[in-house]
Amino acid sequence: MIDEEPETVLERAPQVSWLVVPGVDGASSRAAVALAERSTGRVFAAVGLHPDHADRWSDELDRILELVPQAIAVGETGLDFYRSLSARHNQLVAFRALLGAAVDHDKPVIVHCRDAFREVHDAIEHTETGDRVIMHCWSGGPHWTRRFLELGVTFSFADRIITGTDDMVRRGAALVTPDRAMVETDAPHHCLPDGLRNTNEPADIGLVGASLSLVWKMTCDEVAEATTSTARRIFRC
Ligand SMILES: [Zn+2]
Repeated sequence: MIDEEPETVLERAPQVSWLVVPGVDGASSRAAVALAERSTGRVFAAVGLHPDHADRWSDELDRILELVPQAIAVGETGLDFYRSLSARHNQLVAFRALLGAAVDHDKPVIVHCRDAFREVHDAIEHTETGDRVIMHCWSGGPHWTRRFLELGVTFSFADRIITGTDDMVRRGAALVTPDRAMVETDAPHHCLPDGLRNTNEPADIGLVGASLSLVWKMTCDEVAEATTSTARRIFRC
């Protein structure tokens, strides 16, 4: 976590007119809802259980599901077989439950997918979520980007489009049109390419937009306008 009040961090990002803050467990989901309530329309909350914490699903899920009506979206949820900090079975239990909640409440769902493209694809293939599945911090190359495009999902790009050591994520992004894309910082855990900090924050969102502007051969303003328009459509705000 950034060791500052959220409002202080947001004061440094005047170019960010609004944003979505996801929860990763019950406590952070409640905190996201509380932040949204006091933000007067600039912050919107998502509530979820990150796959890293999925081993706690039996203690956490019910209280997260109770918060869904107060949230703009469900998330984070998904599968992480790279870190594998929770058992795969538990990750799948939590992911399926939260996907179901998103469908039941007609909310978008923010999906974390790391080294689990096939399993995430299988899990969402038969849901009714369409473009309201947001593949967050997308790290897929052309192959998986094509497969997920066929599912009708929306892609959210973060630092991987800036810092990827090869061109794989950028070649994937080139297949996505801006009406299927949004941007995020996935703050605070990602490093910035300047090497000066090992965290990021909402004020750094322009770095993601600048990378996409090179991929899509658009100006940064055009990227900002197009991805904001996509986000407004998907989150209905
Ligand atoms: Zn994530």
